[in-house]
Amino acid sequence: MALQKADIAIAGGGLAGGLIALAVARSHPAAAIALVEGGERPGGNHRWSWFGSDLDAESAALLSCFPSARWNDSYTVRFPAYSRALPTPYNSLASRDFADTLERTLKPGSIMTGQTVAGLDAGGVTLASGTRIEARHVIDCRGLKETRTLRGGWQVFLGQEWRLDRPHGMAGPVIMDATVVQADGYRFLYLLPLGADTLFLEDTYYADTPVLDEPLLRQRIADYVRARGWSGKPMAEETGTLPVITGGDFAAFQEAHRTPGVARAGARGGFVHPLTSYTLPHAARVATLVARALSAPHADLAAMLDAEARRHWQATGFYRLLGRMLFGAAHPAQRYRVFQHFYRLPAPLIERFYAARSTWADRARILAGRPPVPVTRAFGALASHCPPLARTDPSHA
Ligand SMILES: Cc1cc2nc3c(=O)[nH]c(=O)nc-3n(C[C@H](O)[C@H](O)[C@H](O)COP(=O)(O)OP(=O)(O)OC[C@H]3O[C@@H](n4cnc5c(N)ncnc54)[C@H](O)[C@@H]3O)c2cc1C
Repeated sequence: MALQKADIAIAGGGLAGGLIALAVARSHPAAAIALVEGGERPGGNHRWSWFGSDLDAESAALLSCFPSARWNDSYTVRFPAYSRALPTPYNSLASRDFADTLERTLKPGSIMTGQTVAGLDAGGVTLASGTRIEARHVIDCRGLKETRTLRGGWQVFLGQEWRLDRPHGMAGPVIMDATVVQADGYRFLYLLPLGADTLFLEDTYYADTPVLDEPLLRQRIADYVRARGWSGKPMAEETGTLPVITGGDFAAFQEAHRTPGVARAGARGGFVHPLTSYTLPHAARVATLVARALSAPHADLAAMLDAEARRHWQATGFYRLLGRMLFGAAHPAQRYRVFQHFYRLPAPLIERFYAARSTWADRARILAGRPPVPVTRAFGALASHCPPLARTDPSHA
């Protein structure tokens, strides 16, 4: 059995694992890092986006290492009742640029791709190939597809990067175009103008079940392109089936994924915005926390991230409650009304919502006024439970 040694071994070279590796490399240039990824390159096939207001200064500095697309002026939302432009900057990072930056920045040999982690413990990581990487710190960043310990609904989507025959004429992103036919839950198109004739289009649903009908969504994107008077063809594609967490037993979730002495980060650690399913701002913040903690001689990353995840769970209960209202109180075809109602609120409140930093006054404001769903159903939904966030296989913890 081959043996390697590292200061920190990271299982899973996706968003969270890659950001931790980068943050550690920046603050501890001499540290030996082992970033183990099952896929061909770090990051998989994703496009990650975030609002400028999502990040604290340290996280923004970390993200500035990547060549992301940035729209400084405004983004737009469109609903049947109105359209609105909001002045918040928006960013988007393609996983190929994420991988390029990691490969350029980390010391040669730090990234091990095409390697499956078969086991991990407080002393290191064992690969399916038999190689053992002994490390002082071990972090599990292997992502999360589903779990029976948490409850909720799903955000399912298919995104395509299109090369158009002519310039699309769009100046900034459209984060939600919900003027489309409402089918299979809350449906909207998400549009990023990546270049004068390059457009990223995503057809998204807040759905009760994790069913992704890829041919149907491809057809709906093509129909949307045609309806807007554009023509061209899709060059690349990505799909997502993300849990929208509305409740559950977080202690059981942590227990189900715990290995003594091993820290957990990313979606697997519970660092998710419950309602948007976004993890990037939390992954960046956790990466900076890990890098800082490593300066202490006896850093206990597992205990630190466990406690941080519990704090995050407690701080995000409001968004799980909104999720229960979305899935429980609104008829699927009427779910858009919840977002249509929300997006009339002041821009700074909306920024804090996406950053999962809503104040008590924001919460009162979001819930105040005439509710967008029937009041009796809204109260019923608060006490209700969504199904477990697992498909059908009971083996998923
Ligand atoms: C298509 C898509 C688009 C998204 N867009 C956004 C967005 O715009 N903004 C946002 O904030 N969030 C977005 N999300 C949600 C979320 O932020 C991402 O899923 C994010 O990648 C989660 O980060 P993670 O590191 O926890 O998991 P991942 O990025 O999924 O990383 C886990 C990694 O672990 C590897 N792995 C798993 N098991 C093993 C093993 N046994 N051995 C070795 N490697 C293993 C996987 O190959 C994977 O690369 C998106 C999700 C998807 C799927």
